[in-house]
Parts: sequence; C-alpha cells; structure tokens
Amino acid sequence: MHRNLIDGHWREPAEVTRNINPSDTREIVGLYARGSAADARHAVEAARAAFPAWAESSPQLRHDILARAANELLARKEELGRLLSSEEGKTLPEGIGEVARAASVLAFMAGEALRIRGDRLPGLQPGSDTEVTREPLGVVGVIAPWNFPIAIPAWKIAPALAYGNTVVFKPADLVPGSAWALVDILHRAGLPNGVLNLVMGSGSQIGGVLCSHPEVDAISFTGSVPTGRRIAADCVSGPSMKRMQLEMGGNNPLIVLDDADLEVAVECAVQGAFFSTGQRCTATSRFIVTEGIHDRFVRGIIQRLDRLNIGHALRADSHIGPVVDQKQFDVDLEYIDIGRKEGARLAWGGEVLERDTPGYYLQPTLFTEANPSMRIAREEIFGPIASVTQARDFEEALHIANDTEFGLAAGICTTSLRHASQFKRQAQAGIVKVNQATSGLDYHLPFGGRKASSYGPREQGQYAVDFYTVVKTAYTSA
Ligand code: NAD
Repeated sequence: MHRNLIDGHWREPAEVTRNINPSDTREIVGLYARGSAADARHAVEAARAAFPAWAESSPQLRHDILARAANELLARKEELGRLLSSEEGKTLPEGIGEVARAASVLAFMAGEALRIRGDRLPGLQPGSDTEVTREPLGVVGVIAPWNFPIAIPAWKIAPALAYGNTVVFKPADLVPGSAWALVDILHRAGLPNGVLNLVMGSGSQIGGVLCSHPEVDAISFTGSVPTGRRIAADCVSGPSMKRMQLEMGGNNPLIVLDDADLEVAVECAVQGAFFSTGQRCTATSRFIVTEGIHDRFVRGIIQRLDRLNIGHALRADSHIGPVVDQKQFDVDLEYIDIGRKEGARLAWGGEVLERDTPGYYLQPTLFTEANPSMRIAREEIFGPIASVTQARDFEEALHIANDTEFGLAAGICTTSLRHASQFKRQAQAGIVKVNQATSGLDYHLPFGGRKASSYGPREQGQYAVDFYTVVKTAYTSA
C-alpha cells in the first residue's frame, strides 16, 4: 500500500483506495492512501515549517537533489512507463516517453536552481543603491490532472523546489501510482522533511483545503475549466489572495489550406487528434479545411485511421490505448450521439471495440460536415473524437479557429509563408504550430494558453521563474 508523505514520513491512512487498469478493468494497479482534510492541513503546516530553511538552502543542494532524482527517474523509465501506461492507458512508448520527459524537466530545473538571478542598478538615484531580486514564494499547492500523471507534476514541483519553495502535492485520483513514484524518488534523493508533501484523495476535499488555507501562498493547477474557476474563487476568497497558475482545457483547431502538403496534413491531424486517445489538452479537436483539399484530406485521415490498432496499452502492436475510465468513456459516447443528432456526418469510427481484455476501447471518431455552432465543435470533449468544418478561404478558416472560448494550441498546414506568418500573428492561442501537430511540445519552452484555457504566468523552461518567485525591489541609502 502506498501512503501519503507528510513532513517526511509515510503516514498510515484512514482510508485506502485502488486504481484500475483501463486496458483491463479486472486488474488493480495498486492500493493507495486516501487522505483527509486533516492530512491536507497537516501537510500545509509541515510545508510552512520547512519553508524558511529550504528558502535559505544552497542552490547547489537543490541542484544536487533534483539531479539525483532526474537520474533515478531516467534509469527506471521502463518500469515507471509500464506503471503509468497501466493506470492511465497511454501506450507503453508514450508512457516511457513521458517518464523520460519528466526526468529531463527535473534535470533542466536542477540547472535552474544554480542560475542566480538579480540586478543591481548603481547610480539610478544619487546616493542610493537599487537592487531587484527574486525570492521564493512560500508554500505552493500543486494540483494535477490525470492525463500526464508524471510530466505535469514534475514540471510544477521541480521549479517550485529549485527556486526555494516548499510543496503540498495533490495528484488526480485516477493516477496515484506515477505521482507516488515521483514523490518517493524526490524524497529519497534527499529532500529535508516537509519540503515536499503528498496528499492523495478527493479533489474538492484535499484541493479545497489547499486553495483556502491561509498558509498556502500559491496554487499551480492543471485541469478542466470548471474546476479552475472554482479554484480561482477559493484562492481569492481568503484573507490573503493566492498567486494562481491555472492551465485548463482546450478546443484546439488545425487549419488545412488547399496548398498544404497532404501527407503532412494527414499526419498532423492523426497525431494531433487521436494519439494518446485524444486525451491531451493540446489535442486537435477541430479541423478547419478549405474546399480544394477537403475530400482528399478526409480520405487520407480515414485511410490512416484504418491502419491503426486500438488495444491494450502494454501490447507492442497497439497504436492507441483505451479511454481512461468509465466516466470519460460515457462522455465520449455521449458526444458521438450529440454529433449525430446535431447533423454532422459520422465519417469514421464511433463504435465501442471488443478486445480480449475488458477495457474502455473506442474507435477513433471523425465527423465531417460539422458547423462551428455545433457542440462537438465548440466544447472540449477530451477523447478520440474530432470534426471537420469546411471554410471558403484562409480568412474564414482563421475566423472559425479563433471563434472559441479556449485559446491553448492552434495549428495550420500550408506551404504559403504569407498565411503561415499571418496565422502565427493572429491565432488567439498560447501555442501556435505550422505544419506540426497541435500536440507535442518541448519542455524548454514556455507552455500555456489564452482566454479560458489559461490564467497566470507560463509553465516550463526559464519562464517558470515568473510564477515560482516574487520580485523584490530594494532601495538603500548609505
Ligand atoms: P479536473 O479539473 O477534473 O481535475 C484536475 C485536478 O483538480 C484533480 O487533481 C482533481 O482532483 C482536482 N480537483 C477537483 N475538484 C477540485 C476542487 N474543488 N478544488 C481543488 N482541486 C480540485 O481535470 P481532469 O479530468 O483531471 O483533467 C482533464 C482536464 O485537464 C481537461 O480539461 C484538460 O484539457 C485539462 N488539462 C489541461 C492542461 C494544460 O496544460 N492546459 C494539461 C493537461 C490537462
């Protein structure tokens, strides 16, 4: 049984829960503690008590711990990739790739711990010295989703620790295994007691404590828009308004123009919409396609989908694994039904698949003849379902692409430099891609969106410093 880590000790839980393998629902992946609100409060107190010493700890120490953890993660990527794929359902290469990426994030942030920032501005005022420095924030609550169960926690926890903050981490209920392994590795790499705490359990209960506790200085959250809105309200309702970083949903478009390289466009479309079972926040859910290439593009996708195997995440011949759980499976089926009723044409998929293990297997699903006002084109589905809408020209395609409450990622396939440049300038998204799938991002670069997809400073790379530190301006007269 995997326990919660509070103040450097693995705590005996009052309640135990288990997670299920979505590729084979008969299989229990592991047993995990289910923390209480009291555990969450205890963890916050431990993080608060550990903060002053950690904030003053040497950058070298923080570097060494993160680097050791990065090495262990990398050395165990196959084993942890299996665990991740077993609880989340992405294929084994994707699971191993995610663990390796988490290791890279830790290694990068180990380097960041050594990068001491600050400015001294002599002579700005006569007889006075002025300095601008960055200090750690304090206690950071990390609340993570299920779809990248090790990479997302890693890219929140690693910068928090690197810049001298302490952390209380609440993973998503469906994927405690990867979260637990990450915390275990960081703990054994030498973190002092209380610097990193883990409380698994209910979102509203544990997350609720983190967002309302006066001793938590900041919340870094990734998840859905409705949960993000609730968290935002909680974070500003207490005596101290918490700093927030909210990374939320998307409804990401891929524009395909007549002059696109068809093969490139089809590959971007299939990779972006259907791999990882469409369960990426940057997955493409809308193809906006001009008339001249429309039919060839749809045919190309269908031919490509026809060659993909949907199956058990750990089987070598599976290209796409199952949907994560019954709830998401039901949501996907409901949207397929909605798409049919709204009058879109079901061009491929839509069927539940039987496999030799009982799991949440769904055919990748493509609707055509969708119009931009349909729910399947406006709402985040978060499954292997995408729709095609026709546009007259680039201008109309861009208008449709931007006509959404979301603004995470957007892509275009074109060989026109003019349209590519205009798209990069005018697409209302935090991440824009030209002749690439909307998903698939580099951990060195800033990550985040606009509009309802994102609130607060960017994650990842050197930009993470803006969230995890507070700027102080000092004036000194001799
Ligand atoms: P979710 O919003 O249901 O849950 C996210 C986390 O919030 C979980 O740990 C959950 O337990 C917790 N939570 C739930 N209620 C809470 C509350 N009242 N207070 C505090 N915490 C609470 O999201 P999910 O289903 O785990 O993940 C899927 C969603 O995440 C999708 O919308 C997807 O687009 C989004 N996502 C966004 C990004 C991004 O970077 N923009 C990345 C991955 C996933």
